[in-house]
Amino acid sequence: MLDKAPNGKVSDLLNALDKALSAGEVEHAVDLFQTDCYWRDLVTFTWNIKTMEGKEQVRDMLKARLADTRPSNWKIADSEDASEADGITESWIQFETGVARGFGHMRLKDGRIWTLLTTMSELKGHEEPVGFDRPMGAKHGAERNRTTWKEDREAEAAELGYSRQPYCVIVGGGQGGIALGARLRQLNVPTIIVEKNEKPGDSWRKRYKSLCLHDPVWYDHLPYLPFPRNWPVFSPKDKIGDWLEMYTRVMELNYWGATECKKASYDEKSREWTVVVQCDGKEIVLKPKQLVLATGMSAKPNTPKFEGMDIFKGDQHHSSQHPGSDKYKNSKAVVIGSNNSAHDICAALWEAGADVTMVQRSTTHVVRSDSLMELGLAALYSEQAVQSGMTTAKADLIFASLPYKILHEFQIPVYNAIRERDADYYKRLEKAGFLLDYGDDDSGLFMKYLRRGSGYYIDVGASELIANGSIKLKSGVDVKKLTERSVILSDGTELPADLVVYATGYGSMNGWAADLISKEVADKVGKVWGLGSNTTKDPGPWEGEQRNMWKPTQQEGLWFHGGNLHQSRHYSQFLSLQLKARMEGIPAPVYGLQKVHHLS
Ligand SMILES: Cc1cc2nc3c(=O)[nH]c(=O)nc-3n(C[C@H](O)[C@H](O)[C@H](O)COP(=O)(O)OP(=O)(O)OC[C@H]3O[C@@H](n4cnc5c(N)ncnc54)[C@H](O)[C@@H]3O)c2cc1C
Repeated sequence: MLDKAPNGKVSDLLNALDKALSAGEVEHAVDLFQTDCYWRDLVTFTWNIKTMEGKEQVRDMLKARLADTRPSNWKIADSEDASEADGITESWIQFETGVARGFGHMRLKDGRIWTLLTTMSELKGHEEPVGFDRPMGAKHGAERNRTTWKEDREAEAAELGYSRQPYCVIVGGGQGGIALGARLRQLNVPTIIVEKNEKPGDSWRKRYKSLCLHDPVWYDHLPYLPFPRNWPVFSPKDKIGDWLEMYTRVMELNYWGATECKKASYDEKSREWTVVVQCDGKEIVLKPKQLVLATGMSAKPNTPKFEGMDIFKGDQHHSSQHPGSDKYKNSKAVVIGSNNSAHDICAALWEAGADVTMVQRSTTHVVRSDSLMELGLAALYSEQAVQSGMTTAKADLIFASLPYKILHEFQIPVYNAIRERDADYYKRLEKAGFLLDYGDDDSGLFMKYLRRGSGYYIDVGASELIANGSIKLKSGVDVKKLTERSVILSDGTELPADLVVYATGYGSMNGWAADLISKEVADKVGKVWGLGSNTTKDPGPWEGEQRNMWKPTQQEGLWFHGGNLHQSRHYSQFLSLQLKARMEGIPAPVYGLQKVHHLS
């Protein structure tokens, strides 16, 4: 028989919360929270992406936002039951605000709220046309001079950006720009995506030949259109490129390929951007109200400057420009760096028959893909999870419900288990001289990704080549200089080289704002990414959310979007709703706009 006790507990709590919030009784509402509580809000109360940590922050937020938000109808989500395990009662919940419908997740400890996630599902009166509301497509009946779907699409394409201005321009048509574009299309927000590559998918196609996604298929779906059930676990880069191209077309996106954004400026008076783009040698000026930079968080190359780079006679390039390894057969290659790209490129060069040396300056976190899939991802993103009824939307929300402040506590045991399981593997790597770490606090890959977006390798084969010496390794050293034909390291070693690859990572996305808008605007918005965890490459103070991503920035009308496929799918929902609200003139006062502490 179904245990209804957890439902009763959650319903009682939600009724009490509903009552307190409806009556504007902030103290009563705050009393329902644990002392060590976390309330993560994705744009329902705060019009921001923000986590309130502890009762005081919950109180402050409610005092500022309750009257305006007008929350109501808190209940256990339709067709869901609460559950209980290890002293925690948890449940999917739903609620409304004055302007939106919300969905969320709640965990109770000792009868009080420990974690609360509130997310906006849709704006009232501006719902997406789905289910009973889906478009008819065909126009039955007979009418003279009527237009077809194709003619309507062509007319829209001919007009938008020329005689009619888009409300939103997205610069960058990689998966980020495309996913957001699809959401905005469903919300009827006129949008143009400008992309300097010719076709959607080219940002993947142009990467090195051997690249396959490192994340598995269950983690990678795009909004609305999941991959079919026979899609490979790890998409080869050209296949994901084709999927993106198909997706762009069937989702009816206004995608301007071979179009480069040259510059943009914001007029504070008219609250409008002037965006200059170049297509076929022609300049076109767009005048949107909102500008989204979806130019890639792994796309602004960090290329080091070493003495002698100007005299080096071989090939040298950043990993993002690596053309593939075929032409380097029998070459001597030196790859500077020891993260994902460095490993992938070293392995591909070795496969092509090159003599490869990896130069590792400092420690790297390495995790075997199998172990990551089984111990790190399987509960939410795997075939087993699908079989047990887990949906992508729920997996995303469960992941989102774990507060960043304590996420590492959930991650440390996972990586401890991985270290134990793969102890021999790590020993062999260390024996080969490889410098390992598991994150500053042993919390592993996800935390490194969220904090700094770098510092790891998901092992899909290169580590064995390092362990058995096929890829040579020089670790604990830096590059001193280049000569015409070699790389000299800080310990005096000289590595003869026909090719040097700088797999040295990427810079903060506000660098794009500096390039396209101005240094002032880039500095005004500050560093993009990172949580402020005060760990390596993620300086404090604690921010509690990823800086500047998918939420309002210090520059009105300027937004950043991107991240991996999971983030792009999940957060595009909340960014699109923020943009839609602004277009419809729905007041969206931002609570707790982040301060700027770092410029890059
Ligand atoms: C080697 C490597 C492996 C990776 N593996 C994975 C993985 O397995 N799974 C995963 O989810 N992520 C992976 N990533 C991260 C990956 O970069 C992102 O997931 C993905 O590329 C982000 O998509 P995006 O749309 O945000 O950025 P991008 O794909 O970088 O797209 C940005 C686009 O902006 C365009 N652009 C830039 N400036 C302008 C301009 N001025 N005008 C017009 N267009 C412009 C670029 O041409 C580009 O197409 C990997 C990254 C690298 C480098």
